[in-house]
Amino acid sequence: MSIRVTLIPGDGIGPEVVNAAVEVIEAAGCKVEWERAAAGASAVPTHGTPIPAETLQSIRRNKLALKGPLATPIGEGYRSANVALRKEFDLYANVRPARSFAGVETRYSGVDLVVIRENTQGLYSGVEHYIDDERTAAESISIITRKGSERIIEYAFNYVKQNKRRRLTLVHKANILKCTSGLFLETGRGLAAKHPDVEFKEMIVDNCAMQLVKNPNQFDVLVTTNLFGDILSDLTSGLIGGLGLTAGANIGKQAAIFEAVHGTAPDIAGKGVANPTAMILSAALMLRWLGDRHKDPSAAAAGDRIEAAVAEVLAAGGTLTPDIGGRASTAALGDAVASAL
Ligand code: NAD
Repeated sequence: MSIRVTLIPGDGIGPEVVNAAVEVIEAAGCKVEWERAAAGASAVPTHGTPIPAETLQSIRRNKLALKGPLATPIGEGYRSANVALRKEFDLYANVRPARSFAGVETRYSGVDLVVIRENTQGLYSGVEHYIDDERTAAESISIITRKGSERIIEYAFNYVKQNKRRRLTLVHKANILKCTSGLFLETGRGLAAKHPDVEFKEMIVDNCAMQLVKNPNQFDVLVTTNLFGDILSDLTSGLIGGLGLTAGANIGKQAAIFEAVHGTAPDIAGKGVANPTAMILSAALMLRWLGDRHKDPSAAAAGDRIEAAVAEVLAAGGTLTPDIGGRASTAALGDAVASAL
């Protein structure tokens, strides 16, 4: 197996955790040709923009990227480079699995659920402005289309079947947002009728947040709109031990970008203590996706072996990073997973 992948180290803890993921992929015996590319705040001084044209060209060519987190100025400045990349490549499905690990102490055991988030519409459409120069009020428009809802919900039904799962819960707020969330829900109900083999449930988002905290094991796969998915997937990360453990995939018809759920973690950046697990598991998701797409069993097997090595190292407990109760460095945990392979 030999593949070319755009590698974006990103900002904050990005370069630290991406290095660990690269080491692990290589230890798994995968021959990846990495095309390094800049993006985010760290690209601005060198390229004058958070999304350089060369980076877009590289992703366009390779149709595949492994990406560290990118910083976005809060409340001002340029728009999110993450949102822009997802829109540019129409990466409409954001898949965020959360599974408990033996060795990581949490309130619940046996959590195994997946949040599938619509990644291009809703309140992240970027249609937002202040209504006057004095900034006395602002408005933001949520855009939901039937086509956009259909493709993400259909993706979720197929995900349930392909991954031998049972139940799909559609999360909405159609009691208040009768048109936008209403359209998403109506589309889901229509598609549910075409997938009688998948148990379909619907739940209002506020109740869903409470139910997830109270009894996460009642859930299997969840599908929801952009903002709700963003928030609920951080919540599900918390259930299994935090953002250091949760991987993510941004999937489109033409390209895919794999990244951890977490951000740049400015509070620990540069200290060498970030947990690389989420980024390593994102790399494993990438290999499994490659395996499915190119019918390459060796890629899928490498992804499975990386997941097993991560589980083994976390269960052994000797090299845990501080966020999950240990004292190990990013590099030590990465080395341990590479050695376990
Ligand atoms: P964050 O995910 O960066 O951090 C939240 C908390 O989780 C912090 O306490 C941090 O230390 C901890 N954490 C995150 N990843 C960790 C890891 N691997 N190991 C150990 N601890 C970890 O969220 P934030 O502080 O809200 O956002 C910081 C910046 O990241 C913002 O600019 C935001 O826009 C950006 N961001 C980017 C992405 C992305 O690139 N996909 C996602 C989320 C946030």
